[in-house]
Amino acid sequence: MAQDYHEKIPKERHVSLCPCKSKRAYQDCCLPFHQNKAHPKTAEALMRSRYSAFFFRLPDYLIETTHPSSRTPTLRKDLENTLHHSDWKFLTIISTSKGLKEDKRGKVAFIADYYWDGEAQQLQEHSRFRRFKGHWKYLDDKGG
Ligand SMILES: [Zn+2]
Repeated sequence: MAQDYHEKIPKERHVSLCPCKSKRAYQDCCLPFHQNKAHPKTAEALMRSRYSAFFFRLPDYLIETTHPSSRTPTLRKDLENTLHHSDWKFLTIISTSKGLKEDKRGKVAFIADYYWDGEAQQLQEHSRFRRFKGHWKYLDDKGG
């Protein structure tokens, strides 16, 4: 299942700055993750790639990078609803804890600014991440 998603990402996006605010080109940052050609080595990198997947509206990637134990039956519907209504504007990483190459768990606190149906909103979250089959996955928002 992990290898089956191929979301269409227009070529012109590849050279522009990555939406995750890494200040790197998308093709040198989150694109290889979104194309399933590489996997984020840290929880923070996964967090950033999920933010940019929200930005580019890539539900398959968001599902794939959700820990299997957190994949609710309505996950796709919920994500598609969120992606339909939201425009993601800015990501600020506040702090990280573990989540490095040798870790199995990690936490990332962040603030994401977005618009919901055109209205400015802010999401502040302490995300928890776990490794699953060697790869970082998003577990939940209960890391605070
Ligand atoms: Zn990125």
